[in-house]
Amino acid sequence: LLGPAGQLGVTIFEEMTTLAAQTGAINLGQGFPDEDGPREIKAAAMAAIEAGANQYAPGKGILELREAVAAHQERFYGLAPDPHTEVIITTGATEGIAATLLAFVGPGDEVLTFEPFYDSYGAVIGLSGATHVTAPLLAPDFYPDMTAMEAAFTDRTRVVLLNNPHNPTGAVFPRHVLQRVVELAAKHDCLIITDEVYEHLTFGARHIPVATLPGAAERTITISSAGKTFSFTGWKIGWLTGPDHLVAAVRTVKQFLTYSSGTPFQAAIATGLALPDEFYQGVAATLQKKRDILSEGLRAAGFDVYTPQGTYFVNVDTAPLGIGDSVDLARRLPGLVGVAAIPVPVFCHPEGAERTRSLLRFAFCKKVDLLEEAAARLATLS
Ligand code: PMP
Ligand code: GLN
Repeated sequence: LLGPAGQLGVTIFEEMTTLAAQTGAINLGQGFPDEDGPREIKAAAMAAIEAGANQYAPGKGILELREAVAAHQERFYGLAPDPHTEVIITTGATEGIAATLLAFVGPGDEVLTFEPFYDSYGAVIGLSGATHVTAPLLAPDFYPDMTAMEAAFTDRTRVVLLNNPHNPTGAVFPRHVLQRVVELAAKHDCLIITDEVYEHLTFGARHIPVATLPGAAERTITISSAGKTFSFTGWKIGWLTGPDHLVAAVRTVKQFLTYSSGTPFQAAIATGLALPDEFYQGVAATLQKKRDILSEGLRAAGFDVYTPQGTYFVNVDTAPLGIGDSVDLARRLPGLVGVAAIPVPVFCHPEGAERTRSLLRFAFCKKVDLLEEAAARLATLS
């Protein structure tokens, strides 16, 4: 009776957040900040509600936000998408990913991602009927194994689905990696879909949107979201940009998934995108401090720590503590010491799960005292 849904189950984020709530553990599992974003963005949402922006937005999003997305792409990356034909607003990046994949792939096609991969990729590729092919990211920097990546492209590769900065590893891919992806995508004539929701959460490393590379823009759909940059993950406002004929194809699917997305939140995020550069620098600087505090605590607790260059996740190897199986540990950790985390193998197919068997992901987008308390609790493990 269940059909494809039977394959999917409950997401790891829901499982771990539920477990954290049941045990009263500090939740460093699901990635969401424990403080709201800027006041002026909240005020803009409330003002929009009061002003009557409470009915369906246009399917492709309100013009004010499409213009703000285009202006943001221009300000930070020198890209100039046309807000009328090359930008659409989505219900979070999650819908952008789903609508884009469903627009372009089906049975017989292959979609290539790095591994580990964000959980919705595997689920939506499965729902589309396409085949999910992966190329491993390798510790310690979690850049791709270039030989394996090259070998993973075939004449059936229809889409290469990138995620940069990368969840769960925290890698920010350098130009040479992205350039090789573009060359291979061109050689195999496939689309690039790139999930850049952590574009502003980088620490020293510069985020390079793949669409800015020579030869990339004409085959690339870029997806992002307000959730991470502005700390409003519950508003579910995302967007995507790309060449008009590709964006039009995505829109045909999007209109039957959600039709449109929260009208007053769209207006508020338009305000957010216009905030000065200092806001964006502040977001990264604050997170970098939190990264360093949690990383130090995890090191002191005996883990091997892979310092991330972006995102709000840090990965550790549990092997030095004599723990081999991070899935088992993640299930026991809330009860054991009162901290929840996400095991990396859940972002992998079986071979990758074996390779990442002892890795655990912690979110550091939390108040400093909570991070310090979590580290202290974890220190009691060894
Ligand atoms: N892509 C990645 C890599 C993510 O980590 C997340 C989750 N935060 C999303 C997409 C989903 O973004 P949204 O909440 O905007 O749907
Ligand atoms: N992206 C968030 C994470 O990786 C979770 C989002 C969700 O719960 N779907 O933790």
